[in-house]
Amino acid sequence: EGSNPSEAQMSGAEVIAQSLKTQDVNYMFGIVGIPVTEIALATQKLGIRYVGMRNEQAACYAASAVGYLTGRPGVCLVVSGPGLIHALGGMANANMNCWPLIVIGGSSERSQETMGAFQEFPQVEACRLYSKFSARPDSIEAIPSVIEKAVRSSIYGRPGACYVDIPADFVNLQVNVNSIKYMECCLPPPICMAETSAVYVAASLLRNAKQPLLIIGKGAAYAHAEHSIRKLVEQCKLPFLPTPMGKGVIPDNHPNCVGAARSRALQLADVIVLFGARLNWILHFGLPPRYQPDVKFIQVDICAEELGNNVRPAVALLGDINAVTQQLLEQFDKIPWQYPPESKWWKILREKMKSNEAASKELASQKSLPMNYYTVFYHVQEQLPRDCFVVSEGANTMDIGRTVLQNCLPRHRLDAGTFGTMGVGLGFAIAAAVVAKDRNPGQRVICVEGDSAFGFSGMEVETICRYNLPIVLLVVNNNGIYQGLDIDTWKDMLKSGDATTVAPPVCLLPHSHYEHVMTAFGGKGYFVQTPEELQKSLRQSLADMTKPSLINIMIEPQAMRKAQATRICLRPPSQRIL
Ligand code: ADP
Ligand code: MG
Repeated sequence: EGSNPSEAQMSGAEVIAQSLKTQDVNYMFGIVGIPVTEIALATQKLGIRYVGMRNEQAACYAASAVGYLTGRPGVCLVVSGPGLIHALGGMANANMNCWPLIVIGGSSERSQETMGAFQEFPQVEACRLYSKFSARPDSIEAIPSVIEKAVRSSIYGRPGACYVDIPADFVNLQVNVNSIKYMECCLPPPICMAETSAVYVAASLLRNAKQPLLIIGKGAAYAHAEHSIRKLVEQCKLPFLPTPMGKGVIPDNHPNCVGAARSRALQLADVIVLFGARLNWILHFGLPPRYQPDVKFIQVDICAEELGNNVRPAVALLGDINAVTQQLLEQFDKIPWQYPPESKWWKILREKMKSNEAASKELASQKSLPMNYYTVFYHVQEQLPRDCFVVSEGANTMDIGRTVLQNCLPRHRLDAGTFGTMGVGLGFAIAAAVVAKDRNPGQRVICVEGDSAFGFSGMEVETICRYNLPIVLLVVNNNGIYQGLDIDTWKDMLKSGDATTVAPPVCLLPHSHYEHVMTAFGGKGYFVQTPEELQKSLRQSLADMTKPSLINIMIEPQAMRKAQATRICLRPPSQRIL
């Protein structure tokens, strides 16, 4: 070993690891292989947690969730070519959700470029569409500054995904330690505030509103604006509506939450403040008939390009949600104001909430078997730990589950999100569990999956068991996508032909024992068909978190939402009427 420190060498992999550490990156998810194995080893050696996953897509979902949960991007580490291509789904999802993420992809050796090298692919170009920054450092010496720029870009302005490409020949190349200059950790994003005059106009619009509504989006959750928004809600006594992942910024059981009267609240409000929520499909574009034609939007967003999308806002408040909310609060401190709690608007909202809640309770109390969605979720809600993470995906499973399962804490709900991505659940659950283990040991992750959604990343159950993560997986199993067939109908149908010609495309194998996926790796598995079995298995799963568990919950294969108009035709093609 060289005794002269000026001759000490380090590898490209070690430079990458040290650069990430210097930028306060704390979690890496990935799958190793040529040429990135050494990067994972070097990273782990520096105390960055490394979670090995089974598919790059799930690894990328996990890394992006860490960014949302902690405000610091997680890294997804992937091999060249197909490894990177698999991760694109996660990058796209992160970018659509406005979540910070760093993807590091190995790539083929520079000397073989354009020669048909092993897994050669134009990776920097490929990532451009899925990210806000995509680059390859042109030397080992440039790695620290490119990684600093990637981390900074991922969290400044509107958060998003960033890609750093590492050619295979960089990884093991040795360089003199003194030739590498590490950048200091990038500063936290600078806080920007809205124009004072615009804040004033927004406050007076609210004061004059007859039917005001605050909409709390996942931007507010990401911005850690929970204290200021709650103060605004309580001081001015305003009704608020969380978006799916805005749930928990203020607890769902807060008396001013009008989640149970969602459609009515949107439809009749005359002044709406949007705190970090885009007027995209999730909010029906802000347009009639779902809204009043003359509704006035007050838009709060950090991204100027977002302001005015689909609707011309009455007031645009460009800035950080937390800072802008405090600006609004200052207005209401100067000239105090409260929305009257006995108004007609509150009466309309309360009545609608009451009748909606009664309708779902009624469905939940049905005793018929197989169970329906509402029965399942009411029993789950009864045992849901107050501080747990709720991860959810699937069509009806997610939509109905959201109305019943309550969130009490901000950034504790993860779901299919802006991109409507199915297959995110297990990666998200793994991320939440890994973060929980560090921050709040004992905290649980409840991952509520449709049977179809579960299938996208089912092999991540091995990852869950390998790291012994505190996850309870619920598979709400209706034998299909949207709906399926019961086992007898399925068997009868197969008499008329091969499954590829007669099985409705929505069908999955009836009576699948998904719980065996969990027991295969040493976790606990339950197959439940009744409310009593569900209650018991959930109690056991939550009481003993020495092992992860999976509860496979059989529900009515044709169960639907409360007032769902259309049903999918499940007859074989020959009998279908078009
Ligand atoms: P949801 O799906 O909950 O409706 P969206 O993802 O559509 O939420 O909207 C989130 C918005 O929050 C994005 O437009 C994003 O630019 C914005 N945002 C993110 N962080 C901040 C912040 N710190 N301050 C203000 N806006 C933010
Ligand atoms: Mg299903």
